[in-house]
Amino acid sequence: LTERLESAFKNLKGEARINDLNIANTVKDIRRALIDADVNYKIAKEFTDRVKEKATGEKVINAISPGQLMVKIVQDELTDLMGGTEATFDITGNPAVVLIAGLQGSGKTTFSGKLANYLKGQKKSPLLVAADIYRPAAIDQLKVLGEQINVEVYSEPETKDAVAIAQNAIKEAKTKNKNVVIIDTAGRLAIDEAMMTEVADIKTAVNPTEILFVVDSMTGQDAVNTAKAFNDRLNFSGVVLTKLDGDTRGGAALSIKYTVNKPIKFVSSGEKLDTLDVFYPDRMAQRILGMGDITSLVEKAQAQFDEEQAKKLEKKIRKNQFDFQDFYDQLQQIKKMGNLKDLMGMIPGVGKAIKDVDISDDAFKGVEAIINSMTPYEKANPDIINQSRRTRLSKGSGKSMEDVNAFMKQFEQMKQMMKMMNKMPMGGMRMPGMR
Ligand code: GDP
Ligand code: MG
Repeated sequence: LTERLESAFKNLKGEARINDLNIANTVKDIRRALIDADVNYKIAKEFTDRVKEKATGEKVINAISPGQLMVKIVQDELTDLMGGTEATFDITGNPAVVLIAGLQGSGKTTFSGKLANYLKGQKKSPLLVAADIYRPAAIDQLKVLGEQINVEVYSEPETKDAVAIAQNAIKEAKTKNKNVVIIDTAGRLAIDEAMMTEVADIKTAVNPTEILFVVDSMTGQDAVNTAKAFNDRLNFSGVVLTKLDGDTRGGAALSIKYTVNKPIKFVSSGEKLDTLDVFYPDRMAQRILGMGDITSLVEKAQAQFDEEQAKKLEKKIRKNQFDFQDFYDQLQQIKKMGNLKDLMGMIPGVGKAIKDVDISDDAFKGVEAIINSMTPYEKANPDIINQSRRTRLSKGSGKSMEDVNAFMKQFEQMKQMMKMMNKMPMGGMRMPGMR
């Protein structure tokens, strides 16, 4: 039901709004949403400028459904900006060497475990290498992960030379027939020269097939600067976005891709080892759209339904307090939107309750006259409308007693419907325009 209402609403909305759509405003909202989703301001601006250009070019204003077209343009642009199709991950070579770099706490060690697990699933035989020589706990951490997924971990607790460990690990891989070596390196809390030199040295020594820069997607704007520093030094082959769980915003993905122009290869969420995903630009675009609520913003920009009012109304319907004033307000909204016959179905219960009524403006006039004859107290308290009040309403509105009674009956039926819908699972139904 909700779906049907929504799709009807969307189409109609498009039709009804052709003249109203204000691209400039919508674009401004999109920009704000992107910035809210942690996209760098400059990037957000350039992005929305392009969307604006495209939107104008595609004549959104004349489209059947401008809202949907806008969303599509935004999504396509986002997808494009993030690399279009998914990037390849190169693990050819015997062994292939994957170097993992990034700040401390970004999730390198966890990712290394996830990647090993992922590769195992691809029928590869990985070797994990603990090249973090500064924290003894780091070796243990990797070992624990390795045990969980049944992947061997190479370490040299006594050696204080990460380059040597990496080189030895590759020799070990060859003798043990491991075909992918994953080198988990040490990170610092902030970019520092010693750390950079160390990873750069490992790179030179082992000539990795892939150098993955791991970045915590929750770090927002900082992620961009870090990515740039690492890329300047390592010229990495791809980005791994970690901690993309829950409501982490995907904005960092966009900014990083834009700034260093390297593909995002994996996204990782959660601490379980099976939560590694290949990065799909279109999915991330959708995520950013959803997170920044751009879809709804675009729709909202066009909405003639007052959100506030809609929310209040929804609450009232839930509490079964829908009254004559609400009904009247809804009628006004609907009249504004035109195309009454189709729109009637969008008031919960109304479509059915007055399906026999000839739906024209005139039909509404009678109902409006009756409601207008009510006192504010009566409007807010439908239950008190007794026989004598009905008589008064009939006189006041110039409608017959039958008309008044019929309307009361319809209204009662409508409330019954709402009550029933409230009892349905998932909260029953939503009003059009509500989220
Ligand atoms: P490293 O210092 O770069 O090796 O980072 P770690 O792999 O040790 O991760 C740092 C912390 O972040 C640990 O507590 C991990 O459990 C946690 N962590 C890593 N990846 C994720 C992730 O994708 N989601 C969440 N929620 N936590 C993560
Ligand atoms: Mg670590």
